[in-house]
Amino acid sequence: MGFDSEKFILNISEDKKCALCACVLDNPVKTPCDHIFCSGCILPWVVRRGKCPKDCQVLTPHDLDNLLPLRQTILDMVVKCDFVERGCGVTFRLMDLVSHTQDCAFRPVTCENYGCGATLNAGDLVHHEADECMFRPVGICQKGCGQVLLQNNQDNHDCLEALKLHINQQELRIGTLSEDLKRQNFKHEKREKGLLGKVTDLHNDLKNQAMKFENKLSECKQHLTRLSMVGMRLAWEKNVKIKDPYCRCWPQLQTWDIESVDIKVIMLERDKKGSLGFNIMGGFTGMHTILKFLKTML
Ligand SMILES: [Zn+2]
Ligand SMILES: [Zn+2]
Ligand SMILES: [Zn+2]
Ligand SMILES: [Zn+2]
Ligand SMILES: [Zn+2]
Ligand SMILES: [Zn+2]
Repeated sequence: MGFDSEKFILNISEDKKCALCACVLDNPVKTPCDHIFCSGCILPWVVRRGKCPKDCQVLTPHDLDNLLPLRQTILDMVVKCDFVERGCGVTFRLMDLVSHTQDCAFRPVTCENYGCGATLNAGDLVHHEADECMFRPVGICQKGCGQVLLQNNQDNHDCLEALKLHINQQELRIGTLSEDLKRQNFKHEKREKGLLGKVTDLHNDLKNQAMKFENKLSECKQHLTRLSMVGMRLAWEKNVKIKDPYCRCWPQLQTWDIESVDIKVIMLERDKKGSLGFNIMGGFTGMHTILKFLKTML
């Protein structure tokens, strides 16, 4: 949708108007068939119907050309304020419309004094709220209730009525606050449940890891026992000690047998007649070599 031509102080020629909305072009684009539209008017049309609204030529969004110079020309044209009927006589370039509208002294605002709700020009708000408004606060009641006195009821102020009103307002506030609190509690409960779930998961993970570790430990103990039995037998028969000080075979422990175990380093040593250092790196081949070596010794 383009700009209302009534906003402009000069007459707008037809070549600056959209062929769809008939308003002054906003972000003008041109079709290959030389029709000009606001981009916001033609894009949904092309997406939905795939053709030019003027002569039914097939069209995709990629066929539309931005007319940047025309856009700039239109943005430089002089317009009247949106609030001209409220009394603003200022004119400015179209490109300044948003910033003027935000700051215009004639834009409508609502009085913030409780009970008033009057609509007035932004430029008059301070004066109205402080000096004119019938609902403006004029002081505190000195007869004991301590409530704010308003301009329109300071003469017939009733402490009891004022306190009743005050209590009603407080109850309303408490109501909304406790609603908020309920909502917050609900959110926190949900988060807490999520966190508790995570803690339980972590706890289970730890338990599993501890169990795995215990299993590995007992397997390794069994392994060491078997290994030391072999060693003891060797030591007993041939006066030879066998150790595996750098055991790396934990993953294989479950199916441990002397053919498949992956011992990376084996050290053999002989008592009394001096030590016989013997390191073998590797898996199966290493083990076979050891077995052959052990057989020759047995
Ligand atoms: Zn348009
Ligand atoms: Zn066309
Ligand atoms: Zn204005
Ligand atoms: Zn007011
Ligand atoms: Zn009072
Ligand atoms: Zn081991």
